[in-house]
Amino acid sequence: MPREWRQARWDEPLIHEIGSINSQGLAIPFADEDNILEKIVGAPEKQLGPLARGEELQLPGLPENVALRHFTRLTQMSYGVDTGPVPLGSCTMKYNPRISEELVATMSIQWLHPYQDEDTVQGLLEALWLLERWLAELTGMDRCSLQPPAGAAGELAGALMIRKYHIDRGDVERVEMLVPDSAHGTNPASAAMAGFRIVKIPTGSDGTMDLEALRAVLGKRTAGIMLTNPNTLGIFEDRILEVAELVHGTGGLLYYDGANLNGIMGIVRPGDMGFDVVHLNIHKTFAAPHGGGGPGAGVVCAKGELVDYLPRPLLERDSDRFYWDYSCERCIGRVRALYGNIVPLLKGFFYIAALGGKGLREAALQSVINTNYFVSLMKGVRGYELPYGPEKPRKHEVVLSALPLRRETGVTAGDVAKALLDRGLHAPTMYFPLIVEEALMIEFTETEPPSVIEEYAAALREIAEEAYRDPESVKGAPMNTAVKRVDDVYANHPRTVTPTYRVYRLRKEGKLS
Ligand SMILES: *Cc1c(COP(=O)(O)O)cnc(C)c1O
Repeated sequence: MPREWRQARWDEPLIHEIGSINSQGLAIPFADEDNILEKIVGAPEKQLGPLARGEELQLPGLPENVALRHFTRLTQMSYGVDTGPVPLGSCTMKYNPRISEELVATMSIQWLHPYQDEDTVQGLLEALWLLERWLAELTGMDRCSLQPPAGAAGELAGALMIRKYHIDRGDVERVEMLVPDSAHGTNPASAAMAGFRIVKIPTGSDGTMDLEALRAVLGKRTAGIMLTNPNTLGIFEDRILEVAELVHGTGGLLYYDGANLNGIMGIVRPGDMGFDVVHLNIHKTFAAPHGGGGPGAGVVCAKGELVDYLPRPLLERDSDRFYWDYSCERCIGRVRALYGNIVPLLKGFFYIAALGGKGLREAALQSVINTNYFVSLMKGVRGYELPYGPEKPRKHEVVLSALPLRRETGVTAGDVAKALLDRGLHAPTMYFPLIVEEALMIEFTETEPPSVIEEYAAALREIAEEAYRDPESVKGAPMNTAVKRVDDVYANHPRTVTPTYRVYRLRKEGKLS
């Protein structure tokens, strides 16, 4: 059963309002007078030139206990995977193993500097080299570039690679990128940024791509197609081999959005499905944290001739020595400075090393079992429905619709999400994919045990029952959170600081009780 839950609510000022920059906190001096980093890579002025900071950083000094309480209070008004499940569909919000956090926090990793000589970081390069081999093996690709800092950046790199490939062959008419209407918004956005015109392919009633519609738009203007499989409905595109044959047959390429790899890793490979370019979200599939715990890493992989187009540098091995190869004859160049986001890449390396090939396959199977267990618990629950092939098994995620609830009570999927917060549960991904009205997109990954999945399903059932009894009370949610329901427009205002801080300011100014 869902449990009683109240979130702490502190009137917490900014740290600058608690401490002054003139007060002194605890500062432990280095044993060595000279900065070790400077010894390794030289003084900051030498490295950064005019960009080096000329004055002390303006941070307030606080007694240790005061600083600790400030940050602890802020975490008490927040929610994370340490507090409860975060079943955001498509985002693959796994538990981030603490062992990875501790390993990257060791000094031998923390104190590395990107300008260090390659000979002094051979261990790190070997780990990254192995990571690349493993990712290439998992996806059925030949090589991977670790450069892109996010999934969307990997997509942009992949789209630019496809564009350059066609142009190099004199195939300059190929200006159309096909994208299904169930795609993540970053797919058409990345393709458009790479200069393509987007052609939308509709989804059939069974939740897979409409092949007739695909056939109708394929032609000599087709540059390629961007697909995620399983798609965002959590349904496997089982005619993918036919899709690959059709697209390749007209001279186009296949791009695989690897954000949904979790349901199939170790079971089937994008390369074997016919894909030419793949991106992976290390911060999703391979358990590196997202966002605030990030940054991310969006490795991009390719096979065959497409390898030439991967962003550089690539990691090479010369007997026992590892080095970055910057040569770039046909490559698209760089997509960011230096080598990629090393910390999330290492966390992905630790995750794969800990699980091994068999463990990755088991994780995929467990994520699929978790989804289908949840679907079985939600069967026949009044207020929700399962659109697109309700009898079809789902893979890593499932998209429910709260359309019956809205029609019968006026309570929307957005209201359901707020009511979940009141029960100490994170809301699912909302109103996506766009082809499902009142969408609730749920993904437990392999992280959550059956008891949590049961609690989540029970909470959804309880909220629907409450909506039929007393819709206004659901519409008033959340009541138990530090920040109550905020004005949607105001909450998205560009000048927004954190919601908790804004509430603090408004109360202080007497504008909010
Ligand atoms: C998350 C996601 C992306 C984008 O990845 P980011 O790392 O957030 O940039 C692309 N496609 C799908 C299906 C996703 O879930």
